[in-house]
Amino acid sequence: MTTTDLAPWPQLTGNEPCRAPGADPEDWTGTTLKQRANGQKACLSGCPEAVREQCLAWALDHPTRAGSAIWAGTTLSDRRRLRAERRDAAAA
Ligand code: SF4
Repeated sequence: MTTTDLAPWPQLTGNEPCRAPGADPEDWTGTTLKQRANGQKACLSGCPEAVREQCLAWALDHPTRAGSAIWAGTTLSDRRRLRAERRDAAAA
């Protein structure tokens, strides 16, 4: 994969739960399970599926920038697993 194949930044409107006015950034980047559960729930129930797909693709392709935050309802460990599954599928 070359850098030109990497997923682009999602097309956001600013109304996504993580960007909406009043959103608590701690729900996506906080360290407690409750904060992260709030972020996951908001992603899965309040963000359009098309945006979630773009968001996840970006986070999978940019692990350093995505860091340990919640993206598209996934945790860092979720994304590590998904990347490993993607590598395994590509190698099969
Ligand atoms: S799916 Fe991505 S853009 Fe949508 S709320 Fe979650 S982190 Fe924000």
